[in-house]
Amino acid sequence: MTAEFFAPVASPQHPRTRFADRHVGPSPDDHARMLAAIGYSGVEALIDDAVPAAIRTTRPLDLPPALSESAALARLRELASRNTVLTSMIGLGYYGTITPGVILRNVLENPGWYTAYTPYQPEISQGRLEALLNFQTMVGDLTGLPVANASMLDEGTAAAEAMALAHRASKRKEPGAFLVDADALPQTIEVIRTRAVPLGIDVVTADLSDGLPDGDFFGVLLQYPGASGAVRDLAPVTAQAHERGALVVVAADLLALTLLRPPGEYGADIAVGSAQRFGVPYGFGGPHAGYLAVRDGLQRQLPGRLVGVSVDADGATAYRLALQTREQHIRREKATSNICTAQVLLAVMAAMYAVYHGPEGLAAIAQRVHRRAVELASGLRAGGVEVVHEAFFDTVLARVPGRADEVVAAALERGINLRRVDADHVGIACDETTAPEHVAAVLEAFGAAPAPAGDPADRIPGELRRESPYLTHPVFHEHRSETAMLRYLRRLQDKDIALDRSMIPLGSCTMKLNAATEMEPITWPEFANIHPFAPLDQAAGYLELIAELEERLAEITGYAKVSVQPNAGSQGELAGLLAIRGYHASRGEGHRTVCLIPSSAHGTNAASAVMAGMRVVVVKCDADGDIDLDDLHAKIDKHRAELAAIMVTYPSTHGVFEETITEVCAAVHEAGGQVYVDGANLNALVGLARPGEFGSDVSHLNLHKTFCIPHGGGGPGVGPIGVREHLVPFLPSHPLRPEAGPGEGRGAGPVSAAPWGSAGILPISWTYIAMMGPDGLRAATEGAIIAANYVAKRLAPHYPILYTGRNGLVAHECIADLRKITKETGITAEDVAKRLIDYGFHAPTLAFPVAGTLMIEPTESEDLAELDRFCDAMIQIRREIQRVADGVYDRADNPLKNAPHTAECLITEDWKHPYSREEAAYPLPSLRENKYWPPVRRIDQAYGDRNLVCACPPPEAFED
Ligand SMILES: *Cc1c(COP(=O)(O)O)cnc(C)c1O
Repeated sequence: MTAEFFAPVASPQHPRTRFADRHVGPSPDDHARMLAAIGYSGVEALIDDAVPAAIRTTRPLDLPPALSESAALARLRELASRNTVLTSMIGLGYYGTITPGVILRNVLENPGWYTAYTPYQPEISQGRLEALLNFQTMVGDLTGLPVANASMLDEGTAAAEAMALAHRASKRKEPGAFLVDADALPQTIEVIRTRAVPLGIDVVTADLSDGLPDGDFFGVLLQYPGASGAVRDLAPVTAQAHERGALVVVAADLLALTLLRPPGEYGADIAVGSAQRFGVPYGFGGPHAGYLAVRDGLQRQLPGRLVGVSVDADGATAYRLALQTREQHIRREKATSNICTAQVLLAVMAAMYAVYHGPEGLAAIAQRVHRRAVELASGLRAGGVEVVHEAFFDTVLARVPGRADEVVAAALERGINLRRVDADHVGIACDETTAPEHVAAVLEAFGAAPAPAGDPADRIPGELRRESPYLTHPVFHEHRSETAMLRYLRRLQDKDIALDRSMIPLGSCTMKLNAATEMEPITWPEFANIHPFAPLDQAAGYLELIAELEERLAEITGYAKVSVQPNAGSQGELAGLLAIRGYHASRGEGHRTVCLIPSSAHGTNAASAVMAGMRVVVVKCDADGDIDLDDLHAKIDKHRAELAAIMVTYPSTHGVFEETITEVCAAVHEAGGQVYVDGANLNALVGLARPGEFGSDVSHLNLHKTFCIPHGGGGPGVGPIGVREHLVPFLPSHPLRPEAGPGEGRGAGPVSAAPWGSAGILPISWTYIAMMGPDGLRAATEGAIIAANYVAKRLAPHYPILYTGRNGLVAHECIADLRKITKETGITAEDVAKRLIDYGFHAPTLAFPVAGTLMIEPTESEDLAELDRFCDAMIQIRREIQRVADGVYDRADNPLKNAPHTAECLITEDWKHPYSREEAAYPLPSLRENKYWPPVRRIDQAYGDRNLVCACPPPEAFED
């Protein structure tokens, strides 16, 4: 053998020169040791044994060779320089905003915040849960409604969810009609239409300024202020709608609500909107936090996540996600929504913007914005230009018969984008960044004189002025200096476990490295400050980056075309099923509405199928966890004529490469159905197999899993879909931007408000792919499979590993089965999850896909030392369980049942437990050097749901 052959394996000092060598945690030498532990001498042999030959690709990834970090940044700079950052005064739900530096640096650019996971383990998530509770309190106060969630994917989808909520709450069986204000944001109307079609809901748009048209509606959506800028008194139309038995949804601008009477005060049932202008940059459309708030009585119908207040084992106030029984993980096809990943990081930013500015700061910003709009309107009037609306907040609609194009062009020459409404109308939106020079330039563009001196009266009618207080909670008053804000953010961050602290072994979630270089470009102004409806030539760099990303994802997945519009995996599922629906309908087979879903599927699958107008039929799994082929064939036969699709996850949610996947695909195709492969587990496939090659027609990918967008504490995400050629015409489209869809006159309509969804974070995945190159991507997949099998091997003597594939191997994750242990000792998977906190770890995925188990996904990015530290913790916990079994520990009073242990519960004069404080806090010696102290003890979930509180509790709640 040549020395070269040994070089990468034998030398522990082998320098890590390529990015891929640093993205993948273990060194080649570590990998060799891990392989040896699994029983293999090389990675090829392991992969050959783990991945069925039938799905292996014969074609290596055809992608550009890896770029170094500096070369990737140079290329990104080049792309960024092709974007042109002008001043956008387009409005339409997107506004210029100033991100306070303290929030930019300490939240958006801080891995302590952006690498956290969704707060399902509340004891290690108190920091972000408090931040989200601030968000809910802020939205509730500003809208005048008692319960707000945290958060929605954008304003358009929030409005569509509100329509569905109104329909559920109306208790009507028939689909019925939903009335939408013609002055609603145009993209909101279109997202609502996309969602209404499969449900059979009739969407009627009408000018509601003089009341409701005739007809029966289960709900009405009003925009406040309107897209035209008009501020109207919505009380009469709200009352009229209620008389007709309709629920009222108000899409409201949060900044305007600091000055305007809030929807909750004139009877609205639901409020929706966006928190973008609270310090979150445009990002060419996202990500931003949408919001949804409801009146009393509708909280159990809310879509998405709701943070609630509860108590811990010592009776201390603690936060956790409330009412999870409404969510897709539990209710599946009966869930209130398919939302899983939301927009947590952006909700945190918006909430902190409100914390930093406080109510008087927000009101001052709103007043300044309004003043600019008033100056603009009076300048226009003085210059002989007609201003259409008497009452407005930040947006002025000018009537310039036949001159709109000329005016817009003249503004563009002055570096300003205006909204061309039609040939005769131009809209001008002011925001926090609008300066007097902008007003002057716009007036010039209209050929009007500069604004006259003097102090024109404001344009908010007296009866619409807000009188009620808001943001009265101390949190919105205590952190006004930058020092105080910095420390508040640090204090919250310190309460949580994110990837900057330790490995997060969450099965199905792929908590891998989010490299600093990948994160860098997203805050560059050329990417951050582009309005989603800016003229496309100003976004040339973005379009090139998006096209490259879509092409590369298509190459990786084997699909003909990819759309990046869906802004979470759940939305990708909906988009993919809508494509299937459109395809069947185009062939006169619209009656195909049955969607087969294996019992092991992620909850979003069933919830998405229902949203796509499909009927869910569950296919059983066999004792090995694989799809039960007999049941599959029986269900196919039974529903042959109406079979629309099967949704399968590959590798399966059990972490296994099912051998039968090609047979499953063939059987469904033979019956006229389409195959949807849920691509959440693509981290086990990249470079080895392509869903588009082994029989799937459409998949969503989770860029926030496989492609390194950080989870943000529960979002943002991007859920692009890839489709084979025949489904291309049914990809998401966007009426305001045909370029974002499969072509004029084609497409399923928008599933996100913005044409390219959360474009602002696409540079992260682009950078990952560019820096890994084809070999690095494949090495990552191999590394993920090695790591999972290594962990499975180490844990197997201590915990049964549920389900393995051929040769006793798993794919990229493995399931530790606690059920027998629980039966024997009373120690549950949840106890292990909570005890891991005392060891400084975030728990693996609890109870999905199998109750009573923990699903572990180590990913390729974790060093061998960290993998071992985690395995050591799990093994030590198993020893503790054994002490319970052996009667050494009390069955009810032991370190597992009492976990996690706070410093406070240990530092007590009268320690009454039959185990030592050392055993509680330092079960392994390594913890003395690096100890995470949880801020609360185990949280009582049921208490919080029985006593639902979803806003910041008063400070007295924290007193003893
Ligand atoms: C994460 C996940 C989803 C949902 O993706 P979101 O981005 O959270 O909406 C769907 N299916 C599986 C198997 C997943 O792991």
